[in-house]
Amino acid sequence: MFSYTSAMASSTELLSRDEREERLESAGYNVFNLASEDVFVDLLTDSGTGTMSDTQWAAMMEADEAYAGSESFLALETAIAEVMGFDRVVPTHQGRGAENVLYGCLIEVGDVVPNNTHFDTTRAHVAENGGDPVDCPVEGAGDLDSEDPFKGNLDTECVRELADDVGPESIPAVILTITNNSVAGQPVSMANIEETRDLADELDATFVIDACRFAENALFIREREDGYAERSSAEIAREQLSHADTIVMSGKKDGLVNVGGFVGVRDPDLFERAKQRAILYEGFSTYGGMAGRDMAAMAVGLREAVSEEYLTARIGQVRALGERLRERNVPIYTPVGGHAVYIDAGRALPHVPDEEFPGQALVCELYREGGVRGVELGGFAFPNTDRPNLVRLALPRRTYHDEHLDHVAETASAVLERGEEVRGLEVVSEPENEALRHFSARLKPV
Ligand SMILES: *Cc1c(COP(=O)(O)O)cnc(C)c1O
Repeated sequence: MFSYTSAMASSTELLSRDEREERLESAGYNVFNLASEDVFVDLLTDSGTGTMSDTQWAAMMEADEAYAGSESFLALETAIAEVMGFDRVVPTHQGRGAENVLYGCLIEVGDVVPNNTHFDTTRAHVAENGGDPVDCPVEGAGDLDSEDPFKGNLDTECVRELADDVGPESIPAVILTITNNSVAGQPVSMANIEETRDLADELDATFVIDACRFAENALFIREREDGYAERSSAEIAREQLSHADTIVMSGKKDGLVNVGGFVGVRDPDLFERAKQRAILYEGFSTYGGMAGRDMAAMAVGLREAVSEEYLTARIGQVRALGERLRERNVPIYTPVGGHAVYIDAGRALPHVPDEEFPGQALVCELYREGGVRGVELGGFAFPNTDRPNLVRLALPRRTYHDEHLDHVAETASAVLERGEEVRGLEVVSEPENEALRHFSARLKPV
């Protein structure tokens, strides 16, 4: 059994209903504006919010804070080589720093970049470098109910058609995001990774894997893909990445740390260019914006992330939350993915019209009802798209207990029971950049 106990405990208090109502109003009905101490169960994100192990804390105590050639960087390099199979590492402050470094080297103005689905920061970095980010999810990815085991896959035919359209010379890179964060954390199969390798060769493009949740993806392959049941998740994790030319990583996910990231490269030329760009934006090439202790913790975290004991507990917990919600007839995206459960607010609150943000209304109700913080990833976060109005409940790693899951499920169920009373919302003020609206807009009930 994996034990979540550490040498530390912190108490969380559930505020009274009146207090929660007051906090919600002063937050402008946007839960990004809530103080964390006003939240009872915080499922806003799984990014950098997890709990580190005793072994990670111990490694931090012994970290080397040298500017150049830090021993902690060497430990991180070794861990990345052993766990992920990349010998050339450019450290960065977090995942988007890695994206800035890599995509700044790979993409030129006018390029087109396909991805099984761009995560927000990936899309922004492709666009920032003058590229056109194109999503090619498999058919059925948008189907909330199909039980297809690998709804995160890339539609390789979609990429071929794109190449016919724009010419393969316009496609410098093909990106595969594992698991597919923007498609409900759905996994990508090994077969699809191999097909993407062949496709990249065909197009003479660099094959990039966004490896943020590479360990979680490996467990899904072990559980669901023919021929992998007898292999360890650690082996599968490595095999997945062996097909890629380069990887971008956010340590805040499967690095099991609170901050950090890196690029892994094979090509010596690209490595040199990436290092130079990283010095400009991130820091010298043996720390890249991380403290020595951050690197020491990630070196340990990467090894822990591929252990069977950890992964089974992690994926099992997310699945357990999904099951508890389903038992109470809360409509969710199935199958449940790796890091979060997604509630379909369109079905949960059918009387709230799309223009009144049913997803955001549900997010506010979950807080009002039980102090639970989730995040809207539908028409409010992504204006002018036809995305379903999903609410994501992301589980921090190694942080919550079964009782918390029960509380979340009870809360959602209570909201649904009085669903017809729930009112929609309208935007009162929003930032200039619409793409960043959900972080800082203010709303009010209609
Ligand atoms: C989180 C994430 C990133 C960006 O990483 P940060 O550490 O948040 O900057 C990139 N890609 C995916 C798939 C992610 O989940």
